[in-house]
Amino acid sequence: MDIKITKTTNPKAKPTDVSKLGFGQFFSDHMFLMDYDEGVGWHDPRIEPYHNFELDPACVIFHYAQEIFEGMKAYKTAEGKIQLFRPDCNARRMQDSADRLCMPKVPVEDFIQAAKALVQVDRDWVPDHEGTSLYIRPFMFATDVTLGVHASKKYTFCIITGPVGAYYAEGINPVKIYVEDDYIRAAPGLTGFTKCGGNYAASIKAGDLAEKQGYDQVLWLDGVNKKYVEEVGSMNIMFKIDGEIYTAPCEGTVLPGVTRRSILELCKDWGVKVHEEHVAIADIMDAAKNGKLEEVFGCGTAAVISPVKELKWKGDIAKIGDGNIGPFTQKLYDTLTGIQWGKLPDSKGWTTGIDE
Ligand SMILES: *Cc1c(COP(=O)(O)O)cnc(C)c1O
Repeated sequence: MDIKITKTTNPKAKPTDVSKLGFGQFFSDHMFLMDYDEGVGWHDPRIEPYHNFELDPACVIFHYAQEIFEGMKAYKTAEGKIQLFRPDCNARRMQDSADRLCMPKVPVEDFIQAAKALVQVDRDWVPDHEGTSLYIRPFMFATDVTLGVHASKKYTFCIITGPVGAYYAEGINPVKIYVEDDYIRAAPGLTGFTKCGGNYAASIKAGDLAEKQGYDQVLWLDGVNKKYVEEVGSMNIMFKIDGEIYTAPCEGTVLPGVTRRSILELCKDWGVKVHEEHVAIADIMDAAKNGKLEEVFGCGTAAVISPVKELKWKGDIAKIGDGNIGPFTQKLYDTLTGIQWGKLPDSKGWTTGIDE
């Protein structure tokens, strides 16, 4: 891909207080863009100063939500090297999302090249304070001007980035999770395995209700029986029961997380038994009562690992451990973040420098 680069003549001031970075609040100076037209394919890959879109009000994206996205990060090592974590996995997952939403695929190598080129241009935006990173948000949307319900013939692929704070500025804080028993996130045949905006739009109400009751996140049950655990808002979830790890299988309703997959690979290396199975929430609550539920954690790019200290299901409350992060959860967190920030050797070849 021959990327045309136009640099800004008016760079923004970078946030100076790293403790206030938060998530998705600040955006760097440039964006990557590429257009698709049926019969032509992807064309005009370019990096431009960050700017607004001008779109016709009748664009398909505004009415029928033909949109998909990805999420990954660029990490700065102590030596000043900037690296990505398994961007090929994000590229392939975006292709799977595209296929389900009837959208064109961005070739894996173009996706990675675009992300690296954009971070190169905005390399000064990659923060170097402990635990901070540059969040990378690739997304694609339909730009046909029509109210007819069919696949658009035109699309835009865009990548924006922005510095994000250490997820755990005040140390790792275990979260309380509300097990949603009314609304569902996914069902067989639907779009649960894709990162499409529509999945999130449909999930906001349950998240809101959980928050009003003092819970941080929603745990979704399967959409058919509301019996088996699936995943958390924007994370996969794992349970350590009697020394073994249980997590929902990726069979179409669960988002196949890159963090999830990396953890399962580490478990295999460490000789920890993993069950990718349908586990009933009732059995989880029982395991908690019998003292067999040792640790629970969410996993995803934003938080890496998020320990869970409490589950609430139909008025029943399960407390997990002593309310602090468990030793296995901590080991996973240390290993993954160690590889991502270059503090541990990357024996698995998971990282790739933006200049490589
Ligand atoms: C992005 C996402 C995850 C986590 O995936 P990672 O690749 O590990 O960041 C899990 N569940 C949902 C619903 C997601 O959107």
